[in-house]
Amino acid sequence: MPPDAMMNAAPPMPSGHAGHVWLVGAGPGDPDLITVKGVRALQAADVVIYDRLASAALLAHCRPDVVRISVGKRAGLHSVPQDGIHALLIAHARAGRNVVRLKGGDPFIFGRGGEEMIALRRQGIPVSIIPGVTAASGCAAATGIPLTHRDLAGGVSLIAAHRQEDARDLDWTALAADRQRTLVFYMGLSRAEHVGMELMLHGLSGTTPVALVACGTTSKQRAVRCLLADLGAVARRCDLVSPCLIVVGQVVALADPALVAWARSRQEPVPACPV
Ligand code: SAH
Repeated sequence: MPPDAMMNAAPPMPSGHAGHVWLVGAGPGDPDLITVKGVRALQAADVVIYDRLASAALLAHCRPDVVRISVGKRAGLHSVPQDGIHALLIAHARAGRNVVRLKGGDPFIFGRGGEEMIALRRQGIPVSIIPGVTAASGCAAATGIPLTHRDLAGGVSLIAAHRQEDARDLDWTALAADRQRTLVFYMGLSRAEHVGMELMLHGLSGTTPVALVACGTTSKQRAVRCLLADLGAVARRCDLVSPCLIVVGQVVALADPALVAWARSRQEPVPACPV
């Protein structure tokens, strides 16, 4: 059943009839950045299973009797392990409920949405995906940094800076090779020094502009701009908190100065980040 057909709360299905799971992108933080389709799915949900990155304000779209389950997932800290999330989704769907799995940003970008979809498919549970505004798009819009630009960047890469312990490190040679590509690092705040050093070691100029955007699109947004050579030092000295994105590339020079403070050198104190 498409979400359009679910505008009104669906009655509980007869037992034995599998429910349906919608993996819904909540957008990057500003609760107005969810899609209309996402809101419709929330309105029709019997159960909502949500992450910490998904704005709590979005739960206001749900029926008062909705079952709300926080799985408290945030940048590597999972209060419910991934298997537990799969088990919850499966159990509620098997009980014949409309289940919304509300995930920060877009469900298919670094959110383990793919794993959840596969776990549901394996059990024969119908699953639909409702996309969301990913953090890169949200933060770019909120700071006036176009991720691509005819003269400056012909492409953009979305990269997980934080790798699982047994994973190999990124292909820094390839990342540093294309000067006409914007690089957006997710989960990178604690790895900022490493990101800056590896890119420079592999040939990217230390004068390449970089922006750090924390809590983008929310009332707590803080953004600071610096040169690649200063990235580690600026990340250490600036009081930025997670969630935070690192944007590397010439397009960062176009950032709106009213929204992004500029830390000009390693020595100078980092200016207050504008909201
Ligand atoms: N599925 C999400 C990403 C989940 S991974 C999406 O599409 O956006 C979590 C990482 O996303 C964080 O560590 C951070 O790097 C980034 N992120 C999410 N929301 C953000 C925000 N409002 N501001 C800055 N970065 C954000």
